[in-house]
Amino acid sequence: MKADKFRVKPSSKVNLNKFATRGKSDQSKEALLADMLEVGAELAALQLKLYAEDKQSLLVVLQGMDAAGKDGVIRQVMQPLNTQGVRVSCFKQPSTLELSHDFLWRVHAQAPERGEIVIFNRSHYEDVLVVRTHKLVPKAVWKQRYEHINAFEKLLVEQNNTRIVKIFLHMSPEEQLERFRERLENPEKNWKISDSDYSERELWPDYMAAYEDALSRTSTPWAPWHIVPADDNRTRNLAVAKIVRHALREMNLRMPEPSVDLEAIRAKYHTAANIAASAKSKVTAGVKAKAPTKTSAQATTKIATKANASTTAKAPTKASASQPRAATKRVATRKTKVSS
Ligand code: AMP
Ligand code: MG
Repeated sequence: MKADKFRVKPSSKVNLNKFATRGKSDQSKEALLADMLEVGAELAALQLKLYAEDKQSLLVVLQGMDAAGKDGVIRQVMQPLNTQGVRVSCFKQPSTLELSHDFLWRVHAQAPERGEIVIFNRSHYEDVLVVRTHKLVPKAVWKQRYEHINAFEKLLVEQNNTRIVKIFLHMSPEEQLERFRERLENPEKNWKISDSDYSERELWPDYMAAYEDALSRTSTPWAPWHIVPADDNRTRNLAVAKIVRHALREMNLRMPEPSVDLEAIRAKYHTAANIAASAKSKVTAGVKAKAPTKTSAQATTKIATKANASTTAKAPTKASASQPRAATKRVATRKTKVSS
């Protein structure tokens, strides 16, 4: 299964009926899971480079009908990644404030920083999908949006080194109904049921027409769409993981050169190590020199027994007890500064 097989060629006219909704694989369940683990390990290694390099970023746009598996993909595919460096942004119905701006205002604010991976769970595409289907703005307004979207995505690519990968989870209406049944029967999934699930489902043909237009008009060389069969969870997740890996591989990520003179730091390390070693050997020599003879050891035991009567004398004072903690805190503060 190759990542580019899902890519929508720029300027092509998409007819979703021609795209499979159920991923096929001749691999066993175990082999698919093994593949997933392998891709996950590589995703984690690539993410580390992206984060360390701190020059580029990755934006993954996830779209699909209700129950197509957006949440599942985020959980399964992104799981191996370091949460420090990954962010998920969910786009729901816009607030009054958001509606008083242009449709990209709230989206731009969520674009990834350099070094970061951001996943959009729904996105600015809702403004040419749900908005078009429900006629929330006049046609003349949503029609202009494809061009604005392409220009906006180009801005992110060219001005902030963002790589954009857009994924449409293509599910059949039959599979959606099956998933709605599961939501109803499994108490763990009840919370996902929404009033609008069935009314939106009735508008399926309109949504598919809106998706076809969006996929045809906005799959660009700088921000391509991918159509991933989503009826089967395992092949869906593996396909998405491979698409994300492909994008990260193509980014030519490099670990940055160290910002310090490594030879000078190495010399400092050796000095510190020598001081520590000689302090240790002095302590060992001192202990040996003071090693008690049999008779003096017996005397020591007697003294210790007497002293046990007043253990408070040996208890550390508040100040000495707090000293090691204060030292640890100083080290921790310094560490935070270095990593920020
Ligand atoms: P969910 O993803 O199931 O939590 O639902 C979020 C809902 O917000 C979906 O019904 C979306 O269609 C809706 N939504 C997201 N963006 C917009 C938008 N720009 N205008 C109107 N509705 C939106
Ligand atoms: Mg929903």
